[in-house]
Amino acid sequence: MRWEAYKVAKSLEEAFDCIDKSQGKARVIAGGTDLVVQFLEKDPEDGMVLLDVGSIPDMRGIEIAGGGKEIVVGAAVTMAELAQSEIIAKYGRALALGASVMGAPQIRNVATIGGNVVNAQPAADGTIPLLALGAEARVVSAKADTWVALEELFLDVGKSSVNPSEQIITHFRFKATPETGSSSLQRLARRKAFTLPTLLAAAMVRLDERKRSFEEVRIAVGPVARTPMLAREAADSLRGYPVSREAVERAAAAAKQAAHPRDSLRGGAEYRKEMVEVLTRRAILECLTLLGVNV
Ligand SMILES: Cc1cc2nc3c(=O)[nH]c(=O)nc-3n(C[C@H](O)[C@H](O)[C@H](O)COP(=O)(O)OP(=O)(O)OC[C@H]3O[C@@H](n4cnc5c(N)ncnc54)[C@H](O)[C@@H]3O)c2cc1C
Repeated sequence: MRWEAYKVAKSLEEAFDCIDKSQGKARVIAGGTDLVVQFLEKDPEDGMVLLDVGSIPDMRGIEIAGGGKEIVVGAAVTMAELAQSEIIAKYGRALALGASVMGAPQIRNVATIGGNVVNAQPAADGTIPLLALGAEARVVSAKADTWVALEELFLDVGKSSVNPSEQIITHFRFKATPETGSSSLQRLARRKAFTLPTLLAAAMVRLDERKRSFEEVRIAVGPVARTPMLAREAADSLRGYPVSREAVERAAAAAKQAAHPRDSLRGGAEYRKEMVEVLTRRAILECLTLLGVNV
């Protein structure tokens, strides 16, 4: 395994300077837990310059912004840091849950949320909760600086629209879950550690002030398609409707209907499809229970 050079950027300016000088040969690396494994299967391109963005201070923070309404997470924040963050536990619980169960402690200490998203696996443990939380990613290049809805980043299995030779995700942002809201992540896996999930379902639920009806719902499931899936019909079947067990069942059934899992080492298609309904139901019910609502 060989690369031409390994540069550790201390600022975004330094990173883009390296991209500019490398003339298309730069490749962003953060924890390296996906990229280096991929190099074991396929050698890096000739002359590749690995550009380490994991030490850029601006990409390492977790902050409450927008007058308390928004959470901003640096793309180089590690899974261990997300799992330990009081801000994430309070305002983005599903993400804290995903970060705390992915891989194993050694992996969580270096794996970043930015790498998890750009690697674009349909059941990534950081990506599915971020999708349910309605996150956007800040994608920066030498020419542009834009916020993009997370769901727009995924093109195919392992393929995102971010070009890591030219573009850097610097931050993610999502609405802070309010007092009348909660989020949940349900994970099905063969073991409790060191294994990718058989299935993940995340839900974010916000109720009206009297906690009688659903005001905002987002549900994300994976791996049930070639990209991380937002179960839009399931969420639509709840939004604006009174809170009831029937409504929860309707949404869980809609998520199952939209899911098209495939057979793989980690689970059969038929089993996964059945379990989409089960995990979606559990995710919504857990949100309601945390809000003190029993149906
Ligand atoms: C043993 C093992 C177990 C694992 N278990 C799990 C698991 O249970 N769940 C799970 O979801 N994943 C798991 N993974 C996969 C991996 O750890 C995660 O996807 C991790 O979050 C990747 O982050 P990273 O910082 O290591 O990414 P890297 O490997 O550094 O990068 C991954 C990709 O993203 C690009 N990239 C990284 N950061 C940026 C950025 N800021 N902007 C633009 N492009 C960027 C890189 O160029 C590369 O294409 C596991 C990996 C291993 C080796």
